Amino acid sequence: MNSLILVVEDEKGIRNFISTVLTSNDYNIIQASTGHEALSMVTSYVPDLIILDLGLTDMDGLDVLKSIRTWSNIPIVVVSARTFERDKVFALDLGADDYITKPFGTQELLARIRTAIRHSKKDFVKNNFMKEFKMGNLRIDYEKRIVYLNDREIHFTKIEYKILMLLSQNAGKVLTYDFLIKEIWGPYTNENQTLRVNMANIRRKIEENPGEPKYILTEVGVGYRMVEEVTN
Ligand code: CA
Repeated sequence: MNSLILVVEDEKGIRNFISTVLTSNDYNIIQASTGHEALSMVTSYVPDLIILDLGLTDMDGLDVLKSIRTWSNIPIVVVSARTFERDKVFALDLGADDYITKPFGTQELLARIRTAIRHSKKDFVKNNFMKEFKMGNLRIDYEKRIVYLNDREIHFTKIEYKILMLLSQNAGKVLTYDFLIKEIWGPYTNENQTLRVNMANIRRKIEENPGEPKYILTEVGVGYRMVEEVTN
């Protein structure tokens, strides 16, 4: 059965554009132009994914997100204007699965949707057990806690390994600086600088050219994203 996607966007042109793209890619679409309409549609249709514009006329998109997250884990991809970088971070920390910046292309939109839906289905696998991560020349053995690059064992510190583990288990998704810091050092620290230093070390170990990373991308002002596929 095709996935059902709720498109929440007040601008008719953008709403239609998104809907056309998704319909021609075999998704079923329902639309909402306000936050209140969106909330009632989520309850009555329980879609498989929500595309949520943050700039709505009747309420703040972040409040729509917050309200949905009090009772549902439906994947949510947030759409925001480039000028509101902080909103992206807020949205991710409030439980959005991903974000996309206006203006965006068709391929980017479809990739974000595929990733978010896949992750929501993969949750049970993750919770049960994931033994190994493999991508390009990189392999992580989660049981033995060993990382291999081109079949050669690479040494990582405990913290570097933990960062790599979090990013690889969420490949395709951006993890915010705050999220990573809290996962690793707990809620009462501000280890921004330390995180950056660790990331530089990780990249030196796994990236051919750390200045142009292939495996772990920086989402400026937001966080890091491990790619789902590498082109060698
Ligand atoms: Ca808008």
